[in-house]
Amino acid sequence: MNVDNYLFSYTSLNTYNTCPYRWKLIYIDKLPLAKKGYLSFGTTVHNTLKYLLMGPLLPTLESVVNIYRSKWISDGYRSKNEETEYFNVGIEILKEFYAYIENNKERARYVEYPITANISDFTLMGIIDRIDITENNKLEIIDYKTSRVPYTHMDAEDAEQLIIYQFLVENHFQQEVEKLTIFNLRNLDKITVPRANESKITSIKNKMEITVSGIKSDYFEPVENRFCNSCDFQSLCPLYNKEVVKDKELFVKGLKYVEIEQNIKKLETEKNTMGNELIEYAIKNGIRQIHIDNYIIKIMKNKKLYFTPDNIKKLQESDVKLNGVDEDKLIKKINDGSLNLFEIKRVLKKLNFKDEYTINITKHI
Ligand code: SF4
Repeated sequence: MNVDNYLFSYTSLNTYNTCPYRWKLIYIDKLPLAKKGYLSFGTTVHNTLKYLLMGPLLPTLESVVNIYRSKWISDGYRSKNEETEYFNVGIEILKEFYAYIENNKERARYVEYPITANISDFTLMGIIDRIDITENNKLEIIDYKTSRVPYTHMDAEDAEQLIIYQFLVENHFQQEVEKLTIFNLRNLDKITVPRANESKITSIKNKMEITVSGIKSDYFEPVENRFCNSCDFQSLCPLYNKEVVKDKELFVKGLKYVEIEQNIKKLETEKNTMGNELIEYAIKNGIRQIHIDNYIIKIMKNKKLYFTPDNIKKLQESDVKLNGVDEDKLIKKINDGSLNLFEIKRVLKKLNFKDEYTINITKHI
């Protein structure tokens, strides 16, 4: 595929790396994605912040709330209640954030700033939430997050996105970025890391080049991943397509197999219930054999040791030196014979064994 007229974003490249087939459905076939309330909410808040942060003067809180109302996107909420809940959370976020900005007398240098850059033979683009000038006359990139669970650290994926932004910003402004920040809007908490070094940027650029070369070579196979369950395109995906068997003979065999499997399970349950009744009868009457017709039903009693935490504790407290040996290691030691047989017997005597009954059927000769 020719990528000359394509603008690749971090999100789009990340989508391809997760599942090339999904990328094709979104970016080539242009299939629409289902609207999601949390995405609508994030966009509304980001659009309002642009108004709040831009310009030399802080606007009034009232005008910020009015902008928020006017920019509200109603798409994708599962119910009116959910939408109202999100709306109110947004008002709280804006009030708190407004007070924070007012106290710190902060004004942003650039907000929602779009940048493109050429990397080898493709074009990369990003829209940066906020860019500030630092005290050292360098730049700080700030990425706002509206997610319910605030970020507590910058994982590799978030860092990668910010490093791509760093590359775009430095390339565009020809000025060094000093720090990269994630700003949690729900608790006004910031996570800041220093700029990435050149080798990190080069390795991410190389990774992007590999991704784009996959797209250029028309590789669009589906790859099962942790997002499949929430993928909008399951019904179109070859990995999830349900095939209705057309071969009649195979269809009948399949049906028979399911039927047998279900019957086996049903019979197993019935067998266990009846077996328990026979065992109960034998215990109650102190007998070990029940003769029925030409068959002898023998009730076998075995002592079975369960390695429960209590058993393990007893073993550890015993005079066999087992302190610090965990359950798996202990069983291994017993099995491989490295624990002295005499010691094992002595310890096992102190343990509680559980009676286990099994049934054995023989025929009268
Ligand atoms: S269901 Fe999974 S494998 Fe299929 S298109 Fe969606 S993300 Fe890709």
